[in-house]
Amino acid sequence: MAKDENFDEWYNEIVEKAGLCDKRYPIKGMNVWLPYGWKIMQNIDTIIRNEMEETGHQELYFPLLIPESFFKKEEEHIKGFSQEVFWVTHAGKNELEEKMLLRPTSETAMYPMFSLWIRSHADLPLKIFQIVNTFRYETKMTKAFIRVREIHFFEAHTAHESYEDAEAQVKEDIEIAKRFFKKLALPILFSRRPEWDKFAGAEYSIGIDVLMPSGRSLQVGSVHQYRQNFAKAFDIKYEGLDGKHHYCHQTTYGMSERVLGAVIGIHGDDRGIAIPSSIAPIKVVIVPIIFKGHEEEVMKECRDVEKELKSKEISSIVDDRDKTPGNKFYDWELKGVPIRIEIGPRDIQKGVVTIVARDGIKKEIDRNELDKIKEELEEFDERLYKKAEKFLKENIHRIKKMERKEGIVEIPWCGKEECGIKMEEELEMKSLGTPLEKEEINEKCPVCGEKAVTWLRLARSY
Ligand code: ZN
Repeated sequence: MAKDENFDEWYNEIVEKAGLCDKRYPIKGMNVWLPYGWKIMQNIDTIIRNEMEETGHQELYFPLLIPESFFKKEEEHIKGFSQEVFWVTHAGKNELEEKMLLRPTSETAMYPMFSLWIRSHADLPLKIFQIVNTFRYETKMTKAFIRVREIHFFEAHTAHESYEDAEAQVKEDIEIAKRFFKKLALPILFSRRPEWDKFAGAEYSIGIDVLMPSGRSLQVGSVHQYRQNFAKAFDIKYEGLDGKHHYCHQTTYGMSERVLGAVIGIHGDDRGIAIPSSIAPIKVVIVPIIFKGHEEEVMKECRDVEKELKSKEISSIVDDRDKTPGNKFYDWELKGVPIRIEIGPRDIQKGVVTIVARDGIKKEIDRNELDKIKEELEEFDERLYKKAEKFLKENIHRIKKMERKEGIVEIPWCGKEECGIKMEEELEMKSLGTPLEKEEINEKCPVCGEKAVTWLRLARSY
């Protein structure tokens, strides 16, 4: 499996070989999550749950079905999603009085309830989130975790008194995203999406993108400022200190199982996937190196080490299967376990354990200093991050005229939609948007020749 030669083929194969999902389920774009893949996803969810809790969001759960009348309340939103929704039209043989749809995202399910819940300024800010499945009828080629029709989805929704408060929420979301993706060892780019590609119903959208080894960008999250667009459509008002009623200002922050797709694609190699220890279901696998006459001694040492690691809350297992050590190494490298410990009679004699990180770094650790494994796991995550960051930096190209490059290009842009669209067409790339950080720019837009006001990022994307 050569990742460099044909990334997409490698990816399609590795998700099944590593035991993450089974694509044989007979509905296109709906795969079975296998235990190992599901566990990794749950660990990812735990990180975001913790972030939400620390920033004052509360988890709740909304119904999967949305009545058509709710869905139709925000005009832009319908335009954006109407081609992608699954409809429920019948109960048994009887046609339903009102059609219902499977949520493609939950704005239109939640906001009618927000309008009941929010009464006064004392009810604000309202900060909630849910982790659920959403449904979108993708027409493009499906791809495990990256383009699916049933999506494991995280969505945070907030309502505020003022635009400034909502802006502060957007900033908080950006900080949450920075911490979250750092834990997954994924370097990200924030781009303010161009007008023609913002979320349906948003005032503006910030896309969070990674660069996949194929040279294509992948959107792994987004933050939206809704201003009062949805509040007006759904009549979400509060009574202010002035005794008057005002519409709320709203934001959302969304991510999906694509995050796992990015972890697989970016950190994996020809031998398999590589899971950052922060989300690895098994952080350490212990492989006994058995020699005749030392079987019991070695197995006992392996069990002792496992027990000790578990007491330090480092998830670990002893691979006691009847296979050669070489075969075991192969299996665990395929599954991306961060650290392998090898224990043989010689290690026992020396009072050490031999550790091999998934990226090949090998060390001996004093048997009495197993605590050091924690540092080793952190260093492994850091190495994954550094490697991915280097790749990203090497593949962002600032160019001044229209030329095709692998990866992401940044081109001086006057800000006019027609020029942006022209760039997309000519380069056969999609615009990711503009960097969030303001920056002096003394260049000309290569399309119209006028003074550029910012850089426009473009990439081929998934
Ligand atoms: Zn221009």
